[in-house]
Amino acid sequence: MFDLLIRGGLIVDGSGNPGFYGAVGVKDEKVVILRGDLPGVEARRVIDAQGKVVCPGFIDFHAHSGLMIFADPRHEPKVRQGVTTEVIGVDGNSYAPFPNPADFDRFLELNSGLDGRPQLPARWSTVAEYLSLFDRKAAVNIVYLVGNSPLRIAALGWENRPPTGAELANMRALLREALEEGAWGLSTGLDYPPGSYAQTDELAALCQEAARLGGIYHTHVRYRLGDRFLDPFKEAIEIGRRSGVPVHITHFYLRVGSPGGAERLLGLVEDGRKSGLDITFDSYPYIYSSTRLLIVFPDWAHAGGPERLKAVLADPEARSRLRKEVAPRGPSWDEMWLTNFKRPENHRFEGRSAAEAARMLGLEVVDALCELLLSEDLGINYVTSGVDGPSLPKFICHPLAMVGSDSVFLGEYPSPRTYGTFPLILSAFVREEGFLRLEEAIRKFTSFPAQRLGLPDRGLLRDGFKADIVVFDPAKIRAPASRTKPKQYAEGIEYVIVNGELVIDAGRHTGALPGRALRRGRAST
Ligand SMILES: [Zn+2]
Repeated sequence: MFDLLIRGGLIVDGSGNPGFYGAVGVKDEKVVILRGDLPGVEARRVIDAQGKVVCPGFIDFHAHSGLMIFADPRHEPKVRQGVTTEVIGVDGNSYAPFPNPADFDRFLELNSGLDGRPQLPARWSTVAEYLSLFDRKAAVNIVYLVGNSPLRIAALGWENRPPTGAELANMRALLREALEEGAWGLSTGLDYPPGSYAQTDELAALCQEAARLGGIYHTHVRYRLGDRFLDPFKEAIEIGRRSGVPVHITHFYLRVGSPGGAERLLGLVEDGRKSGLDITFDSYPYIYSSTRLLIVFPDWAHAGGPERLKAVLADPEARSRLRKEVAPRGPSWDEMWLTNFKRPENHRFEGRSAAEAARMLGLEVVDALCELLLSEDLGINYVTSGVDGPSLPKFICHPLAMVGSDSVFLGEYPSPRTYGTFPLILSAFVREEGFLRLEEAIRKFTSFPAQRLGLPDRGLLRDGFKADIVVFDPAKIRAPASRTKPKQYAEGIEYVIVNGELVIDAGRHTGALPGRALRRGRAST
């Protein structure tokens, strides 16, 4: 007797191979593939998938759910896209280990414009304690990366300086411990202090440790480095070469349109592979990027931590320096739309551009941003059109690309990527434009990221694999989320099964929370 039987659908198993017709049984959280007639096959629940695609659950390689999933464990924006596993702890900004609780609180505040600041179910300090909070308490599985920011904060505090030998050894030990407790690799976000204070040598040393234990290096590169075009990615490749770590470049895209620009970026990665490096990347299919507003402020303003940063934002002399140095990220201040205002008196700024907010306040833009950040405890997020649209298909369709939504769960106007990434690829890129075969898109969402991480029993529909399954209608799937109306769920994803349990049933969320923290080196029971 099966717990669940999905029959009549086209099984696209995640390998990239063409689909076949058959049935998928689920028993004890595991998949059984059935072919031919099904006489005598019994199941507690049968789903008719005629005309539908049945495939493995999608793995999102870049998600900002590390705290916000505690506020909303049903996680509808993602699970309604077919996501069953998310990679969290990205951009160097992760929430364990934090041996010092005061540092944890500082870090929460500093990064609240990116990862939010919800009510937490408990306090924790180690990776093991943090991961235990996800088991059967969220709709999706999580894969944790340890960010270099917490390692740095624990070892040398908030200062902008290189580590001593002893401090570096301490960071390596903390990283080793995190990987032993189940983290899948090291992340960096080299535009985000204090992790961005780490230079190439320090990162190569940490990556040696990750490589030894079989972890990956997942990096938001140092976009301000050198020529601000190829050099940031060359640093990532250099770190891979020196340490032997598998390098994964996250949210890879062309920022400013230039003829041949995408080919040159992709060429770097292809040449790296030809020379023997193990390198991959992820992309998302929208032109709208989004992050904490603090990212426009220079490293020196952040040195010492958030209390010092707030003193800098309030200081008239520092302000005059900031007015000269702070520039918009993206095309202009008119195209940086602010979100995540918490104070009632600031709600009028929700969704307004930085330029509009400054006009409303009668201030210069940089002064307006300083005032708003101070009144919102630094927690402002923004969305901008920072991605070159015409070259996006070259990234998404590249054989080395997987998908990272970079979904942020803050404010009334998040980037539409939070609600639409995977269905947009299936509708616009596969069905409408024919840029990608369906089986290839599914491979990017499933077996490729599973292989990248080394997940032993997910990413394919094969006998004995964990039952993370999506059933969708390839003719109806669509992603209505837009920049001005971003909070719209995807359509056409009819069933989503996580660890053998229905989370989306005929298009409705069941309230089930079968997700787990998947731990490196351990079976996911
Ligand atoms: Zn991110």
